[in-house]
Formats: sequence, structure tokens, C-alpha cells
Amino acid sequence: MVFRPPGDCPVCGAPVPPRARACPECGADDRSGWREDDAGSGLDLPDDGFDYDSFIREEFGTGPAPPRGIHPIWWITGILLAVMLAMALLRCW
Ligand SMILES: [Zn+2]
Repeated sequence: MVFRPPGDCPVCGAPVPPRARACPECGADDRSGWREDDAGSGLDLPDDGFDYDSFIREEFGTGPAPPRGIHPIWWITGILLAVMLAMALLRCW
């Protein structure tokens, strides 16, 4: 099973923020739950000494929440696509 945030957690179904390495709801991550390509992920911590609470706080608890909604890049992409489509149609006619 390969899961890459953002999306719904395959374990509990909670939304997982982009770039998150673990689910904020149930704590599933690429060790305990979903699998993702962990090459170079830098998560080679020993399981015994792994403080999950501080990990979650580090990942999700600091700073403002990421903005909800559509990132401006998608607006730009959409407008560019619309312009290209319009140009293609005009050329055909
Ligand atoms: Zn979850």
C-alpha cells in the first residue's frame, strides 16, 4: 500500500496534511501503517527511543496551519490551460 499525503489516512480516514510523515489523527506513518518510498527519508530512528508525541508536535503543532483551499499555482495552471485551449480552438476555426 502506497500512500502519499495530502489525502485521507488509509488507516483511520482522517485528512493528512501535505508533506506530513504521519497521520495527525491516529499516528500512522510509514513505519507503523501506510508505506511510502522511504529512501532518504531520514527516519532511521530506533523504535524504542522514538518519542511520538514530540514528533507529532514538531510536525503539526508549531506555526500557523497551512492555508486551506487552492494553491495559487493551480489557478495559474488552470488559466494557462484555458488560454492554451482557447488558442487551439481559435486556430482550428
Ligand atoms: Zn490516521
